Amino acid sequence: MVHIKKGELTQEEKDLLEVIGKGTVQEAGTLLASKNVHVNCLDENGMTPLMHAAYKGKLDMCKLLLRHGADVNCHQHEHGYTALMFAALSGNKDITWVMLEAGAETDVVNSVGRTAAQMAAFVGQHDCVTIINNFFPREKLDYYTKPQGLDKEPRLPPKLASPLHKIITTTNLHPVKIVMLINENPLLAEEAALNKCYKVMDLICEKCMKQRDMNEVLAMKMHYISCIFQKCINFLKDGENKLDTLIKSLLKGRPSDGFPIYQEKIIRESIRKFPYCEATLLQQLVRSIAPVEIGSDPTAFSVLTQAITGQVGFVDVEFCTTCGEKGASKRCSVCKMVIYCDQTCQKTHWFAHKKICKSLKDIYEKQQLEAAKEKSEEDNNGKLNVNSNCVNEEQPEAETGISQEDCNPKDSVEGERESLQSGAGLECLQDAPAGPQQSEE
Ligand SMILES: [Zn+2]
Ligand SMILES: [Zn+2]
Repeated sequence: MVHIKKGELTQEEKDLLEVIGKGTVQEAGTLLASKNVHVNCLDENGMTPLMHAAYKGKLDMCKLLLRHGADVNCHQHEHGYTALMFAALSGNKDITWVMLEAGAETDVVNSVGRTAAQMAAFVGQHDCVTIINNFFPREKLDYYTKPQGLDKEPRLPPKLASPLHKIITTTNLHPVKIVMLINENPLLAEEAALNKCYKVMDLICEKCMKQRDMNEVLAMKMHYISCIFQKCINFLKDGENKLDTLIKSLLKGRPSDGFPIYQEKIIRESIRKFPYCEATLLQQLVRSIAPVEIGSDPTAFSVLTQAITGQVGFVDVEFCTTCGEKGASKRCSVCKMVIYCDQTCQKTHWFAHKKICKSLKDIYEKQQLEAAKEKSEEDNNGKLNVNSNCVNEEQPEAETGISQEDCNPKDSVEGERESLQSGAGLECLQDAPAGPQQSEE
């Protein structure tokens, strides 16, 4: 490789950095064709053109530079930043993905010892954290589809590589979701296949822990998914349709409040069984989970998800009650307290939910009434200050005057009326438990 000195740029290389910020891909392409441009040239801070493109969020420029042989793992920056770090800091998910696919190392650290994922978390780019922490290159899995060493057969039948890769790159670690993904693929949903898969995941877990640059996050994820696979095997041994039984067990709630005890226990047990007890991540997880009584917050699922995907503070996002999928939007039309991806998820959960739907509905209505009462009191007080003569305390007329920005429709009388009306739908729902209704919010 040519020795490249920091800050010794040719005029064309200077032009290239300029064009990356403001110009077109064509212009950059023309410059890259020049013999006076080295694709991995370094500016005075040790930044390559690829780092500039990543930092500025220029996806097409990144792709162009990579096609021209840009070194994705160049580590000459004065503070030890890599192109992946710049991508993650910029918050651009596509660029982060492109860097990973181009072979960016995730465990390289900058001059203060932070990885790209840690830097992204620090500046609040949580989507990029999730992408980095859950990236697992397909080639690494394909390695197991060829016989290695003295093995006569590959450890993983090639046909299983795709469905398994889909599961290990998921960012939704909900046990029900994982069992659903297995259940929907006939290739996976049988004992022999699951046996092979979980053993491969255990090998990957071991590799993650024993390699020089340890990856505890990926190791924990592999171990956890492996545990869910082993649960599936246990249930499959008992006969047909047993994965449905496992899903039901995972969703079954305790009578008092519907909390899924078995699910919580399974996740806790998987974490506890992590074979490398010296791992910092394991100790962190145990410290967060052990003092929590089963049924209280935080759940083992949320602690594990946070540790593995880096997602924190699930504000403004709704998660499916059944499978934990992000962005669910269908509410139970009766209680309005639980949310699902779709009817399949709602139907799957109905056997457990129907037992507490009514009491959740009561809680919901109470909350709505209280909210409406508070709101009307607030508004009346507001009006009193302005014009005390015009207030009619009996009438919650103030509601009609609420402006868009201070009114969440669910806090208003409108929401209350809606929930009372839906009480009519309750009876028919109870009669027909197989077809729960939904309302879109
Ligand atoms: Zn769902
Ligand atoms: Zn309900």
